[in-house]
Amino acid sequence: MPAQTLDGLKIRDEIFSELKQDVARLHAQGIRPGLAAVLVGDNPASHIYVKNKIAACEQIGVAHWLHSPPRNVSTDYMLQLVSDLNKDDNVDGILVQLPLPQQIDSKGVLEAVAPTKDVDGFHPVNLGKLVTNRPGLVACTPAGCMEILRRYQIPIEGTNAVVLGRSDIVGKPMALLLLHANATVTICHSKTRDLPEIVRRANILVAAMGKAGFVQPDWIGPGTAVLDVGTNKVTDPAEAARLLKNFLPRLEKFREKGSALVGDVHPDALHTAGFLSPVPGGVGPMTVTMLMSNTVKAARLRRTPSAAFVGK
Ligand code: NAP
Repeated sequence: MPAQTLDGLKIRDEIFSELKQDVARLHAQGIRPGLAAVLVGDNPASHIYVKNKIAACEQIGVAHWLHSPPRNVSTDYMLQLVSDLNKDDNVDGILVQLPLPQQIDSKGVLEAVAPTKDVDGFHPVNLGKLVTNRPGLVACTPAGCMEILRRYQIPIEGTNAVVLGRSDIVGKPMALLLLHANATVTICHSKTRDLPEIVRRANILVAAMGKAGFVQPDWIGPGTAVLDVGTNKVTDPAEAARLLKNFLPRLEKFREKGSALVGDVHPDALHTAGFLSPVPGGVGPMTVTMLMSNTVKAARLRRTPSAAFVGK
């Protein structure tokens, strides 16, 4: 029997309709949550990401502003912009789209964002809150993975959870969230030995490596819930054939377009996993969804003192 699909698009729609109601309630209190996006230069992928984030704001009724300084902007300029946005009472969330051009001190700019407006959850203060399991703003992609597990009622407590990847924005926060939900967590990285054996013991597997189809179907035990965070653009026909030979409509599409989006887990894992988030349409849509959720949360925490008190 094929794995049950963990449908990120369906969950996004559910959460958006909940957020619309939350935003309407805030509007009724005279509060209009707002997100300021900072997009430097003309990276086409970044433009698409920001466009999608702004479209999501429109959908749920969040105000938005786009700041687009030119490519050659300085770190000082960025620090001043962030400082102005920190002071602007209409702005609840500040999103600095990465990557920034090389001349800019990216870490310095991200650390300049007020932690209360850090809707990407990248600020060391929010990371510290996550480590100590205190309420704060959590990085969107791992928060989205947790939301998928929660909404599909996949038990976490007492399970073996394996996280492939240890980046600051996905792997590490993911491992902490699973740990706080009482999983026994193993974090793997490029120097990990006997990866297949470790993966075989997983009840929950989160793959965030950036390696197309790396995790083989026979590494995955029956019943395992697999969250595939990897988003890899495959352009090599031999690679596409290796990954998609059992998915002929996708292979056809690859031949028409010259590229396909594939996760870190081989798509044939559909026949070995218990639950599988597809790529595209699984974890991907959850990142923007949780950005919206964080923006509404940031508005509530900053502007309604009783919410700040209980940390909701
Ligand atoms: P990253 O910063 O490049 O980190 C990749 C991690 O994978 C590193 O920790 C690396 O180990 C580990 N790794 C690499 N090769 C490995 C191997 N052979 N075995 C085990 N671990 C290995 O990437 P990231 O930013 O976390 O993103 C990971 C993937 O998720 C990418 O495909 C990215 O596009 C995707 N992503 C998707 C979303 C979404 O919205 N769906 C959001 C964010 C990221 P070392 O630390 O030892 O180098």
